[in-house]
Amino acid sequence: MKYISYNLKNFREIPFFERICSELKFNIEVVGNILPFKVNNYIINKLINWDNTETDPVFLMTFPQKEMLNPEHFQIMSTLLKKNSDSADIRREANKIRMQLNPHPASQIQKNVPELNGKKLWGLQHKYRETVLFFPSRGQTCHAYCSFCFRWPQFVGIRKLRLVMQEVKQLIEYLKTKPDVTDILITGGDPLIMRTVFLKHIIDELLKAKLPNLINIRIGTKALSWWPYRFIDSHDAGDLLRLFRKVNRSGKRLALMTHFNHPKELSTQEVKIAVDRILDTGTIIRSQAPILKNINDSPEIWQKLWTKQVEMGIVPYYMFIARNTGAQRYFALPLVKAWDIYKKAYKNVSGLSRTVRGPIMSTDPGKIQILGPVNIGKEKVLCLQFIQARNPDWVDKLFFAEYNETAIWRNELIPAFGEKNFFYERDSR
Ligand code: SF4
Repeated sequence: MKYISYNLKNFREIPFFERICSELKFNIEVVGNILPFKVNNYIINKLINWDNTETDPVFLMTFPQKEMLNPEHFQIMSTLLKKNSDSADIRREANKIRMQLNPHPASQIQKNVPELNGKKLWGLQHKYRETVLFFPSRGQTCHAYCSFCFRWPQFVGIRKLRLVMQEVKQLIEYLKTKPDVTDILITGGDPLIMRTVFLKHIIDELLKAKLPNLINIRIGTKALSWWPYRFIDSHDAGDLLRLFRKVNRSGKRLALMTHFNHPKELSTQEVKIAVDRILDTGTIIRSQAPILKNINDSPEIWQKLWTKQVEMGIVPYYMFIARNTGAQRYFALPLVKAWDIYKKAYKNVSGLSRTVRGPIMSTDPGKIQILGPVNIGKEKVLCLQFIQARNPDWVDKLFFAEYNETAIWRNELIPAFGEKNFFYERDSR
């Protein structure tokens, strides 16, 4: 399949766009000038129902919507566009607004960038003891941009916001000093946007380094759901699959960390063929996704998603809460509502789908799972636990917040039982 990409400059040329009203097109332009926007012909032709764009989940998660910005920000950009302002003014205002949208949440810049010999390694993130994230320079775009994505600062052209590393050597030098690291996550953007030859260089160097503690090489990618041809008929698809097989035969384990947000994304023949090819190399495919208002906010959708994944050989991994950045206001659900959907879906799937964990907030101190409301004494509280944390001693500890039906993120939760802080806030001081 020939790859055709559409973005802010050419989206009006999308064949089906004649069906879209001019107001919606203008809204896409306004929001798309602030949040990144890109889509490809596979999504357009195979995944979107163009007769029903108002409710189609793939359309809504791909194309910018007016409500993704607060009214004030929308107004600023729409006035600039209506006045035909010059591009430098538009860019300046867009950057100002972007800085108010909490780029790189959870202290990723302040706390997660490691150092080697007194030098910051801007293309690495090391938050959890066992896992290092690597952002190769050629993998910092995607096959399409998801409008809810917390990695949006990677794609808006602001240099100081970009996490990127040119050299795999620095990664290896760093890993040699960290014997606790068992997992590397090659991430982005989407590393599978890179030609295989570049990914092969990274992986070959990692294998050659013979790091005794390295067990898993993970690749975070959306290619399987949004450009499955990457594994079927792209010019170097065969090389990519051979590379996967090589890793698995080397004694290390390759895991593809994929995103499927809706069962529709699993429905095409192309995805089925791609999954079979990847599994044939001995690679594990895991899947994670956020729970998103208007996209996948029902138990039936998640039940179908996890069941279909298991049927295809994909391991359900995480259900996340929409992060406190970018277009959170459009996608977020109250935490207790997300928990209720998770619980109802989880109850109705077989044990093989229960590898999934959620709903989870990826916060500054760690990944917090919402375990739901409980009554303790006379008080109804919200029970939480870390499933991953900056401080490994926090993992699995239960803690409690006052019951709150509207909170969408951790900063809206108050410690229960009259406590002043959550336990980890006392530990971090
Ligand atoms: S593919 Fe992944 S990294 Fe890229 S925009 Fe979507 S969620 Fe973000």
